Amino acid sequence: MKLPILASLSLATVSAALPSLDVERSAATINSTVLACDALKLVFKSQVFFPGSTNYTAENEHFWTPTDYLSPACVFTPKSALDVSAAILTLVGLKAPFAVRGGGHMPIPGYANTIGGVLIALTDLNTIQLSADKSYVSVGPGRRWEEVYAYLEPYGLVVLGGRVGIVGVPGLLLGGGISFYSNQHGFASDNVIAYEVVLATGIIVVATATQYSDLFWALKGGGNSFGIVTRFDLLSYSSPTVCAGITEIPSTEKDLFLSAVANFGQYGSADSKAAVIPSIFMLGSLNETIYTSALFYDGTNCNQPALANFTAIPALENTYGPTTLATYVEGTDALIADGTRQVFRVISSFANAEALSIVHDTFVEEVTANILNVAGIQASVAFQPVTKNFIQQGINKGGNPQGVDITKAPYFWMVENFSWTDPADDAKIAAFAASVTDTIQAKLVAAGQAAQYHYMNDAGLGQEIFQNYGGTNLAKLKAIRAKYDPLKVYTNLMPGGWKVDAA
Ligand SMILES: Cc1cc2nc3c(=O)[nH]c(=O)nc-3n(C[C@H](O)[C@H](O)[C@H](O)COP(=O)(O)OP(=O)(O)OC[C@H]3O[C@@H](n4cnc5c(N)ncnc54)[C@H](O)[C@@H]3O)c2cc1C
Repeated sequence: MKLPILASLSLATVSAALPSLDVERSAATINSTVLACDALKLVFKSQVFFPGSTNYTAENEHFWTPTDYLSPACVFTPKSALDVSAAILTLVGLKAPFAVRGGGHMPIPGYANTIGGVLIALTDLNTIQLSADKSYVSVGPGRRWEEVYAYLEPYGLVVLGGRVGIVGVPGLLLGGGISFYSNQHGFASDNVIAYEVVLATGIIVVATATQYSDLFWALKGGGNSFGIVTRFDLLSYSSPTVCAGITEIPSTEKDLFLSAVANFGQYGSADSKAAVIPSIFMLGSLNETIYTSALFYDGTNCNQPALANFTAIPALENTYGPTTLATYVEGTDALIADGTRQVFRVISSFANAEALSIVHDTFVEEVTANILNVAGIQASVAFQPVTKNFIQQGINKGGNPQGVDITKAPYFWMVENFSWTDPADDAKIAAFAASVTDTIQAKLVAAGQAAQYHYMNDAGLGQEIFQNYGGTNLAKLKAIRAKYDPLKVYTNLMPGGWKVDAA
């Protein structure tokens, strides 16, 4: 077993050495990073990579969007929680800044990568093990959802995770996680029963509903301010076959489509086994708007009233039919491949026709007027219908930091997604994404249709997330952060990501 480097440092020693962990790009910071990389390399010879090596490039480019490729001083790939602990002690001892990357799908530059710091890439923390009684599966943060679904398929089991297979396990769970099964079982994070976490002291703990229960609660949507999660234990559910597919609808059927979306938004909770992800897609190359929806049903009979409004619309193509979750997600990878520049923005509203038409009309008008001529542009809004039962399930399972107001459900949680090809257009798209979101938000507010909660994992830089969590949850999150990481290691030394202290 490898000895944790600098393991002899006690928390008190570290605290005394670190009156402030505010990181500046000073010569001292650069030297500390060089030292940290060298120290890690001494102990972990085959797990530390420097610029110019194939492994460094592969890890630095293990992101969904090239806007996230940055320039870490080195990349460290831990193989165990103990390796992560050793790295944390080294980085804290040397005051060297770092970033942590799971699946690399959060499209905000610097949120899971670093310029000049150490990138801890979790690729090799890839445990996947079903419990003896098959009630839960332990998953390492290097896994992607498609791997978890494929592993569970022979057992006829599923877990709550991404609706797209290439997305990483850890980031999705730390922000909450919207699954095809969420209207039945809540956020994906409501279905985590244990987190193995490396705290800022290097100590490794397992947080559950009964031990480190405050930390357990915080990790269900509080992001990366508390520690590095090295294992998630996820409740499994029986779902051997499902009905799933994508329908693609021409713009001529706009009214039927919008009416189906509004109807599902309002009445979707009548059958919580049904799920949809209706989207508006605007493609610059075709100068056209099309409508799509993922259609999903947890069961074997695909002819379901809950989805009939969608399946009845004349489609350009419709792949909805019997399958398994693993097969469905594998088949959609190619539609959402890595490699193009991407920005997300989040909006939320009450789930009704008025809100839908505000978002639809404003988005289509603004995109058409401002960015449809940008090279390779694709602009979309996906409407994620969230039922009362979705929220109730989280409450039943002990609650979560999101604290979404059940009394005002159902909601549409919407993600705007812009993708393009030329780095020269980065600033233009970022500015447009922010401004169209502000315009839509102002119209929703004026119409009394804006909802409070904004989903972290679909958000863009600068949007307010924790400020919109329910009740006093932000204050609770800050107190838990202060208890488990008093030196703000995971806030200041690891600055990337949504931080509760910045809210
Ligand atoms: C194509 C696509 C489809 C998506 N589909 C869904 C969906 O169906 N449902 C849904 O809810 N969301 C979805 N998302 C959003 C997704 O949940 C977020 O992008 C999420 O952050 C991705 O997790 P990741 O591990 O890949 O991210 P990363 O970019 O690796 O990490 C995200 C954040 O988490 C931190 N982090 C990562 N691992 C750890 C760890 N082990 N410990 C502590 N902090 C860590 C990182 O530092 C970073 O700040 C989708 C995103 C994309 C791009």
